Amino acid sequence: MVHGKRWNLLNTLFLTGTLALAVVLVPWRLATSGLRWSEALVFAAMIFAVGTAISGGYHRLFSHRAYKASWPVRFLFLCFGAAAFENSVLKWSSDHRVHHQHVDTEKDPYQIGKGFWYAHWTWVMEAKELPLAGVADLEKDPLVRWQHRHHFLIGAVVATIPLWIGLATGNVLGHLVFGVVLRIVMTHHTTFFINSAAHMFGSRPYTDANTARDNWLLAPLTYGEGYHNFHHLWQWDYRNGALWYQWDTTKWLLNVLGWMGLVGQFRRVPEAAMTRARLHMEEKRLHERLSLASPGVATPMRDRLAAARLKLDTALGALHDRHEAWQAKKAEWRAKGLAEAWREAKAERRAALALHRAELRMAWAEWKAARLEVRSALVYA
Ligand SMILES: [Zn+2]
Ligand SMILES: [Zn+2]
Repeated sequence: MVHGKRWNLLNTLFLTGTLALAVVLVPWRLATSGLRWSEALVFAAMIFAVGTAISGGYHRLFSHRAYKASWPVRFLFLCFGAAAFENSVLKWSSDHRVHHQHVDTEKDPYQIGKGFWYAHWTWVMEAKELPLAGVADLEKDPLVRWQHRHHFLIGAVVATIPLWIGLATGNVLGHLVFGVVLRIVMTHHTTFFINSAAHMFGSRPYTDANTARDNWLLAPLTYGEGYHNFHHLWQWDYRNGALWYQWDTTKWLLNVLGWMGLVGQFRRVPEAAMTRARLHMEEKRLHERLSLASPGVATPMRDRLAAARLKLDTALGALHDRHEAWQAKKAEWRAKGLAEAWREAKAERRAALALHRAELRMAWAEWKAARLEVRSALVYA
């Protein structure tokens, strides 16, 4: 006898029900009342707050421990994250850590090999309940335990903030359609795109050991989470768009919070390691193409590549050493304090000047001796 798939009824109804409501209510509301400024504004504020709580909180802080955060930041991330209706942070992190550890295998909860839609949302709707695993570190946080017990209620309170604004402005229905229903659906599917689209479409500049891709188009939709190839190689880095021009609003916000002293101890992969990984991938792809060419063409080109690679490695090594020396110097200065560092710099300058003066004195003496010799030579000439 063949058993059909079992479905998690609550998850299935919630995901499909909110989507159906949005598909019906949004066009109806747009056709009958248009879109008001306040509705657009509340929608944008809510989707940004909830999405950032998932990206900066659920994902980078709790699942990957990429930085440390003070309790008010953790509290806000836990409250707004709950309003994404993607389960508690404990469950989310547990599934997500398994995804990283067993990516693309049978143990990966959202394995892309089972198809785009499976990785996108079918896995949520199937009745398979994975047990909590590998989150003992998170369970030590009382805020996390509190959120795990009440996440649905917390989520419901936060998600209905637009309704209160609606009550105050006499426009409950408009805020219900855009600020609550559409917002929930959009939050769901933008997050889900990272498990589906970011494992299918895009480039793999750092590693091809897994299916994760860098996709710049997804980055603005997911508050910077689109650089998934980078993320799978260095999951503990607090950035996902690590290059300065890559869109990563979560990283930018964390930098501001760090500057305010609310978060800190950011973990970053050194730039040289990123460049090396990128180089390795490029070299691998070029060699693959050269293996198809005739030996007459391939051999000199391989030598040419090897020579260029050697030069690059030397330059990278030198840059790395200079960077390390600078870090060491900075740490030394920080340890000593500014006043002491200034005194040392002055002493260094004084010693250097004394050396220059001594040199100058000797040079003058030599000049005088030469002058004397010339003059006496001229006298007896
Ligand atoms: Zn992934
Ligand atoms: Zn991750």
